[in-house]
Amino acid sequence: MQSEFQSALPILQKLQDAGYEAYFVGGSVRDSLLKRSIGDIDIATSAKPRDIQNLFKKTIDVGAEHGTIIVLEHGEPYEVTTYRQESEYIGHRRPAGVVFIASLKEDLKRRDFTINAMAMDADGEVIDYFEGRKDLQQRILRTVGKAADRFSEDALRMMRAVRFVSQLDFKLCPFTLAAISTHGSLLQHISAERKTAEFQKLLRGPGVGEGVRLLVETDLYKHLPGLNEKAAQLMSLGALPLHRLQSADELWTAAVWSLNPASLQIFLRDWKLPVKLIKTVESYCTITEKVMVSGWTLELLYSTGSEQAACAVERLRSCFTFSEEASEKIAAKYRQLPIQSRSDLQIDGRQLAQFYRQTPGPWIAEILGSAEREILNKRLCNTESAIREWLEKCNL
Ligand code: ATP
Ligand code: MG
Repeated sequence: MQSEFQSALPILQKLQDAGYEAYFVGGSVRDSLLKRSIGDIDIATSAKPRDIQNLFKKTIDVGAEHGTIIVLEHGEPYEVTTYRQESEYIGHRRPAGVVFIASLKEDLKRRDFTINAMAMDADGEVIDYFEGRKDLQQRILRTVGKAADRFSEDALRMMRAVRFVSQLDFKLCPFTLAAISTHGSLLQHISAERKTAEFQKLLRGPGVGEGVRLLVETDLYKHLPGLNEKAAQLMSLGALPLHRLQSADELWTAAVWSLNPASLQIFLRDWKLPVKLIKTVESYCTITEKVMVSGWTLELLYSTGSEQAACAVERLRSCFTFSEEASEKIAAKYRQLPIQSRSDLQIDGRQLAQFYRQTPGPWIAEILGSAEREILNKRLCNTESAIREWLEKCNL
């Protein structure tokens, strides 16, 4: 058993000692069988939320009415959830209520895919009622139960399906694929935030090309913000070497680059992305485009504003042009710049206003810009006296 599970074992043991059942469930069991790195460890138990709270010293109530309590073990948070069944679903996205039950099998049955519906006990034995292990071996994603029913209950599962195809390099089982093709429009009931999280994971996956192809084949893309009528552009996004990119900022820059929306702002806002990310994407787009036209000039390098941003732009440039990436070289070049931001200048706007005995205005930015260019190109030394001398000589 991997160390991640070992660290959480005391929780399972404590629940069992108190007479309850407890198992590791879901994604962590799947990932350990796939020998992938394990994300969050989730625990399912027959204990009720109140019992869990009574049993452990440090707990956080994150949704006791749904059965979930966070237990802190050595400072690490673990989601411990009471076996539950979901009653009628409303609006194709959430159950009207949950019913706590005593059966692990019933709890596993409500889960989305066979590979996510396995449990593991404290001895590392895998409990697999729905042939999840077989599907893992054959690398197939299959719903637990009838795909049409499961997608109709919760339409997000369709996005999850395609995301797992990309993330795990799996194939969809034919019934699951067919049901996505007929139920795609139900995605309209799902919030943009939840779609965004899945789409972003899809773009990060090693099988992004196949994931994107499936979005198009099933028409799911038509129900994603700003993607209607963008099938061809979406396919070219999926064909980029996106694995070279490192952050969400970079991924969304690639998305904007390929999808070419009428308005970058509106497109990203429709995906409910944060303002900070939108600003960064705007800047990355502008600079990358310029670098692709004129190469890495000193001014462009400087305009990135940080070593990290310079590397991001270099990764984007290499991704869009399918050419070699040289972010380490670019980072070194950035570090060697005579100045790295306007605050490094040995003269500021206030001093300029004094120097020219004029009220501040747009002219200040213009002069500072010229000074920056001169210093970057090593035609001017970044000292106050040299800059003053230059100002006099230029007679600006
Ligand atoms: P990740 O690696 O992205 O965390 P995961 O499979 O662990 O993948 P989570 O969203 O953390 O995904 O969910 C944990 C588990 O809960 C899943 O493995 C699955 O068993 C169940 N689950 C999550 N979302 C759904 C859903 N929409 N419908 C049914 N079961 C779900
Ligand atoms: Mg998880």
